Amino acid sequence: MEEDNLQARIDNVFARIDAACARVGRDPLSVQLVAVSKTFPPEVIDEARACGLSLFGENRVQEAVAKSQLCGSAEWHLIGPLQRNKIKHALPLFSCIHSLDNVKLIEQLAQACEESGARPDVLLEVNVAGEASKHGFNPKTVREGVEAAMAGGLRLVGLMTVPPWTPDPEGSRKYFRQLRELRDVLEQEYSISLPELSMGMSGDFEVAIEEGATFVRVGTALFGVRKAKKWAPQSTGLTTDEFSRSLDTDDFV
Ligand SMILES: *Cc1c(COP(=O)(O)O)cnc(C)c1O
Repeated sequence: MEEDNLQARIDNVFARIDAACARVGRDPLSVQLVAVSKTFPPEVIDEARACGLSLFGENRVQEAVAKSQLCGSAEWHLIGPLQRNKIKHALPLFSCIHSLDNVKLIEQLAQACEESGARPDVLLEVNVAGEASKHGFNPKTVREGVEAAMAGGLRLVGLMTVPPWTPDPEGSRKYFRQLRELRDVLEQEYSISLPELSMGMSGDFEVAIEEGATFVRVGTALFGVRKAKKWAPQSTGLTTDEFSRSLDTDDFV
């Protein structure tokens, strides 16, 4: 199909962002599209750059670091869990980390930022539905996260959530609303500004925008269905697992 190309899908997503903003009287410029390029190769990212995208979201530090060296310049956000032994690899690349989910990580990140001079924006991931299987603070423990981020001098800019999966995007609305309301409460309690709400994926980003999202993290609607669990460079001759393991070693820089 002629219409089924990357540029057409990007145009479609932007049109849907604009329409969602129009429904609730928001400025489309207040919503940033994070193009979730996880599992896709650098060539696809370069194609997206040629179509005008410049902000990419990745969920694995090692994959993002490797790919960023193989494609043209872009802004990178980390949207997946950050393991503490990857902090030093993450800091030089990511301008924003959406997924801080525990106090120990926040403390170590703050220390690494102090040592390296890196100043990424950070968001706290909140598991608003309290799902046992999900990463993130819950609406009570998030205060420990806010306090740790403030104590560590991190640039805390907002909250992020991944709601329980539902086939109907309307099913996500109450969780998006809860995240926004939690943000409002935390701003009051701590006299801080938390302007960013990272919420909404391919299936529900329009609802998220109606509820106040400032970052929508969209993968499938832009790049199509992911076929691999992760990307590894062909040129290394390693399987994806071997590649990933090679990057887990300490001498990876
Ligand atoms: C993969 C991923 C996305 C994108 O999901 P799609 O449904 O493909 O748009 C968004 N957020 C996070 C945290 C992800 O891991």
